[in-house]
Amino acid sequence: MDKNAFWQKEIETLSRRQLEVLQLKRLKKITGRVAKAVPFYRERLAACRLKPQDIKSLKDIERLPFTTREDLQATFPFGLLSVPREEVLRLHTSSGTTGKPKAIFFTKQDLNQAAELIARCLVMTGVARGDVLQNMMTYGLFTGALMMHYGAEKVGMFVIPAGPGNTERQITLMQDFKSTTLHLTPSYALYLFDVMAGKGIDPRKDLSLRRAYVGAEPYSEATRKKIEEILGIDVYNSYGLTEMNGPGVAFECAAKDGMHLWEDNFLMEIIDPKTGQTLPEGREGELVLTTLCREAMPILRYRTRDITAIMPERCRCGRTHRRIIRIKGRSDDMFIIRGINIFPQQVERVLMSVRGVAQNYQIVLQSLDQMTVKTEIIRDIFDGSVEHLVNLRSEIEDKLRAEIGVKPKVDLVEPGTLPVSEGKAKRVIDQRKL
Ligand code: AMP
Ligand code: ZN
Repeated sequence: MDKNAFWQKEIETLSRRQLEVLQLKRLKKITGRVAKAVPFYRERLAACRLKPQDIKSLKDIERLPFTTREDLQATFPFGLLSVPREEVLRLHTSSGTTGKPKAIFFTKQDLNQAAELIARCLVMTGVARGDVLQNMMTYGLFTGALMMHYGAEKVGMFVIPAGPGNTERQITLMQDFKSTTLHLTPSYALYLFDVMAGKGIDPRKDLSLRRAYVGAEPYSEATRKKIEEILGIDVYNSYGLTEMNGPGVAFECAAKDGMHLWEDNFLMEIIDPKTGQTLPEGREGELVLTTLCREAMPILRYRTRDITAIMPERCRCGRTHRRIIRIKGRSDDMFIIRGINIFPQQVERVLMSVRGVAQNYQIVLQSLDQMTVKTEIIRDIFDGSVEHLVNLRSEIEDKLRAEIGVKPKVDLVEPGTLPVSEGKAKRVIDQRKL
């Protein structure tokens, strides 16, 4: 397969007019579906006095209610399900702020559709039957690995379900099975280099790598270049979120200039995160997505909190689905370490549950996989025995690991030494040069 190949050429190159006709038809259908089957949406639609038949043009989407992360948590687990439970084949979850995850369900058709979208993405980067994909994302409740896995199998790739970690074994797998394609987070890619260098492996000479799909957390163009140079490969940016199937929402083509978002499946809007007003193409704002094909769990106007912009220009690859620029950040306070979403409130909850911890704390992000939690502790303990301090620190580290899934470095500091801000506390200090 060459770099100009398509998986579903007809749909990937539909004229804008045809694509918009299709979107409108699907938007009406999905709104009708949730109005009938999901009490949450029935009430929301009634509250904004909107009937599905009132939708006459795509612009009318602005009259529909938003769905937020909090709505997903409040309706957990089955509140947004629009099919009988027997039709659900799979569950995926994503981390939340209150310890309650967000649950997303898939029917057989949903899973097939998600795999089709991934297949489009992969073919767009020039993979062929027999290409070997080493899938280094986490398998399990996360979407990252499994969705990619099924999409890659659809294309006919040879898939190694390696999962993350155990880096020495990862390298051995690459050598033994001549992996051509990697799927991993940017933080792990950077770490991988160090281990390769330590073992004296020159990826350009000793391995068969040709490309990597890198995503799940924000990273810069400079990080992309670095990974490309060291590994001697093409890196394609991959964007997705659990609420919208996981990976396969938007992906770079061979031009590596913005990510095509599959507009026959997702209706995208960019809004001003403060006012909720829709912004024109080209302007930066929060990405809002509506699922157009979902059966099990359609979601209207989901506020992703991710900041990006729509690129209005046609792409030279011939696909008509518009592209979004690299994600610039988030409109909420979530940050991502090692591909895991973390909210400052989770850290705070742990700290406040430990005896001896005082009020003030700070989270310092050093790199894509390293963070330090600095916390003030009460005077008696700070002036007390070293042993007590050491135990307290490991207690906090363990509890944090249990809550957020990564073990940060913990610094216990003297009471009154962390900056106190007027107004909103600045809890997260981001020192990363992304
Ligand atoms: P999850 O639902 O756990 O898969 O996390 C989804 C979130 O990860 C998104 O809302 C983004 O904030 C972030 N994310 C995923 N892919 C990318 C990417 N390519 N660039 C930047 N952020 C990303
Ligand atoms: Zn393109």
